[in-house]
Amino acid sequence: MKRTALLLAVMCVAASCATTLPPRGQDLVNRAVQAVGGAEALARVKTLSVKGTVRQWEPEQSMDAGGEMRFACASTFAFVTDVASGATRIDWVRNFQYPSPRTFTFSEIVTPDAGYVAGIDSNGRTKQSLDSNPPAHSMSGPRLATSQRELRRGSSLLLLEMQKNPDRASAGADVTVGSATYPAVNYRVGDQTFTVMFDRVTGLPARVRTLDYDNIWGDVTYDVVLADWQTKDGLAMAFSRTYELNGRPVMEIKTTDVAVNTSIAAEQLAIPPAFKAAAAKPATGAVPYQWVIRRQFIGTYLDSDAVSYDPKASSGLRLVELAPGVQHVVGGSHNSFIVEMREYLVVFDAPVGDATANWILGAARAKYPGKPVKYLVLTHHHMDHAGGLRAFAAQGATIVTGKGTAAHFRRVLAAPFTRNSDLPARDLTATTIIEVTDKQVFSDRTREVGAYVIDNPHSTGMIIGYVSDARIAYVTDIWSPGAAPLPEKLTPPLAALVAGVKKAGISPAKFAGGHGSVGDYAPLAALEGK
Ligand SMILES: [Zn+2]
Repeated sequence: MKRTALLLAVMCVAASCATTLPPRGQDLVNRAVQAVGGAEALARVKTLSVKGTVRQWEPEQSMDAGGEMRFACASTFAFVTDVASGATRIDWVRNFQYPSPRTFTFSEIVTPDAGYVAGIDSNGRTKQSLDSNPPAHSMSGPRLATSQRELRRGSSLLLLEMQKNPDRASAGADVTVGSATYPAVNYRVGDQTFTVMFDRVTGLPARVRTLDYDNIWGDVTYDVVLADWQTKDGLAMAFSRTYELNGRPVMEIKTTDVAVNTSIAAEQLAIPPAFKAAAAKPATGAVPYQWVIRRQFIGTYLDSDAVSYDPKASSGLRLVELAPGVQHVVGGSHNSFIVEMREYLVVFDAPVGDATANWILGAARAKYPGKPVKYLVLTHHHMDHAGGLRAFAAQGATIVTGKGTAAHFRRVLAAPFTRNSDLPARDLTATTIIEVTDKQVFSDRTREVGAYVIDNPHSTGMIIGYVSDARIAYVTDIWSPGAAPLPEKLTPPLAALVAGVKKAGISPAKFAGGHGSVGDYAPLAALEGK
């Protein structure tokens, strides 16, 4: 027995068992490399230029909770990459439909150690972008890490990289998607693992998957589905790339032109020195990939290392007392609202994710010791205002949501979230959910706090809050008080708010916003009929 084991070990060394990729996985990679044109053809690629179109949908900005995805953006792009330096430039024209129609024309440069954006790419601009003329900014660490990951996922050269680095690859279990089962190889880059699934018939890569965390749906899969293979200069490339979030298509990239080894001027790929010096290194560890990707889908991503605020413009989240026992959580891209009752607290909105929720819970505990958050009122289901609900539920808060949304939140709270870096996994299915049909008033011997469902064009079942003794109301997304001057006429969302206030029979003096700050209500109400 002993001699056999020794013999096997010797044979193993001779046969390069030192690599972690067993023959089956190596075979899959080798076969795929052959299928796209061979290692030599791939190695001949020095530069790659691609033009195409992108369409994006955002499932968690839907009108109805759990309903049809919102169409977010249609784009055209011109992409160039230099293989030796690992630098890529993408020139974009992005026509957003949501949250408002607008066009952003800008360029991104992504290198191994820095990222840069020339132009305006978001409504959520950093101080550096606002201060730069013309507008430009360095990418944050999370944005750079996300861009690098997604460029690698979609790269025609990923297979060659896998073939060259067998120590980072390992054979995976077969993966079933719908009715298809794919043999797969896991490929590690830093702390990320790509699961590359192969077509049994053609040998071509069919899907490239990562296991991500989504602030609404918890543990999710994120796949690119490769299709429409066309051969250019001896290389087969997927001209159709569809991205699926938990099996739902959220992005389609269509290639319209490809050119191999055209010359690229060095300055096209150069990040201006001042921006390069200010640029963050790619973030590692708990990068909120889905947040970074999907805030860009709707053109609202705040390109900041701190995720929910810009450290150069804000010292961080803070409480602002609007009235005794009424706190506005401000300082970030999204606000929240805390109301003190005699024995407990009511919080409106759980924005961004559980890191923000943990901050709010900590600040509330410090300000009002011994008073738990008994109710978390979610104004609406959108991921940027509800993504921190788990941390509140984990502390025993009852979730209060608008008409037609309770079943959605029951499914959300039942979803596993083992990849949540801000909250240990636990069972939240016993969380109490109150669905408000019309209004719900929380009252004790000190004050009354109301949650009123109003009709509006942003989200079905939208709630506004109201603290009657302070005459302060709270509204998210249909008005952002203080963020911009009032228009001359009521817009449909503002008209909905004015109608909602009337229907609720409340008389607010001021509104605090889920975005922006605080504004007087009278000037808004006075726009009615103009
Ligand atoms: Zn919204």
